[in-house]
Amino acid sequence: MEAALKAETTILSGKPIAERVLSTVRQETADLIAKTGVQPGIAVVIAGTDPASQLYVRSKGKRAIECGFKSVEHKLDETVSEEELMALLHTLNADPSIHGILVQLPLPSHINEARIIQEIDPAKDVDGFHLINVGKLTTGMTETAAIPCTPAGCMILIEEVIGKDLSGKSAVVIGRSNIVGKPMASLLLQANATVTIAHSRTKDLPSVCRQADILVAAVGRPEMVKANWIKPGAIVIDVGINRVANPPGSEKPHRIVGDVDFEDCKDVASAITPVPGGVGVMTIALLMANTLKAAKIAAGK
Ligand code: NAD
Repeated sequence: MEAALKAETTILSGKPIAERVLSTVRQETADLIAKTGVQPGIAVVIAGTDPASQLYVRSKGKRAIECGFKSVEHKLDETVSEEELMALLHTLNADPSIHGILVQLPLPSHINEARIIQEIDPAKDVDGFHLINVGKLTTGMTETAAIPCTPAGCMILIEEVIGKDLSGKSAVVIGRSNIVGKPMASLLLQANATVTIAHSRTKDLPSVCRQADILVAAVGRPEMVKANWIKPGAIVIDVGINRVANPPGSEKPHRIVGDVDFEDCKDVASAITPVPGGVGVMTIALLMANTLKAAKIAAGK
């Protein structure tokens, strides 16, 4: 008997989906301004000169302007004190033209990041890292919560393939960070998936992953997930962004890869996100959506 042909794998590119999110944000921003006079405003705070952070901040500012937002950047010196940073956050908390405050992480090592995040007004915490927003997410009060942008973007990608209701699906999240792994697991649980969180202390990770109809990798280990970790037909979402050296003589010295070995896994999965061009582009789009949501709530909409 002839072996059944495997259906083609969907390469889940984030670009068109992020563009759709941004287009809705642009439209709704124009409506909000027309109806209420409220223009969404975002403030990005960066301390230090880390080139990757500078690049992220620039692209966030550019996207905000394209969405019709007011966008301000506060570039602080590497040596800024915790008190100075807190004072700036208090000023932004009190500024009615600012609806979203984003503190670019990582902060310089002498600053306590957890303490700084708690100084942001939860209503303006568009990253969704404040304890109030974490609590709202885990208790299901998502209507007024800011949901962390990367996991929210992953959920839209998953929805694109199998819809909003994940009843009966088994999901495995590799990674338990506060910014990706844990909120990702909360969102999958709220969508009715049966969720396992795996991490650095998990025993026999490949066999845990093989149970997953939906596998989300948020680890920070280049190409760790291999084809034999994947249940045939699973949806694979790769959050990882890892810079690896190219072989000597290559055109560029480095390239960016995910936590999933894309080439190895792409024929086993039914859908898989590429890196770059998958989850990463969704994150900024969701940041804009969160800022608009905060502005709408502030305007009583
Ligand atoms: P993190 O370092 O805070 O957490 C990594 C997690 O991976 C930890 O919970 C740890 O337990 C787990 N882990 C580490 N080694 C492991 C192993 N060998 N086996 C199983 N689990 C292991 O990282 P993070 O902030 O959650 O980010 C994870 C990755 O996602 C990074 O590559 C980061 O650059 C990327 N990231 C991407 C976006 C995006 O927009 N695409 C956003 C945030 C983070």
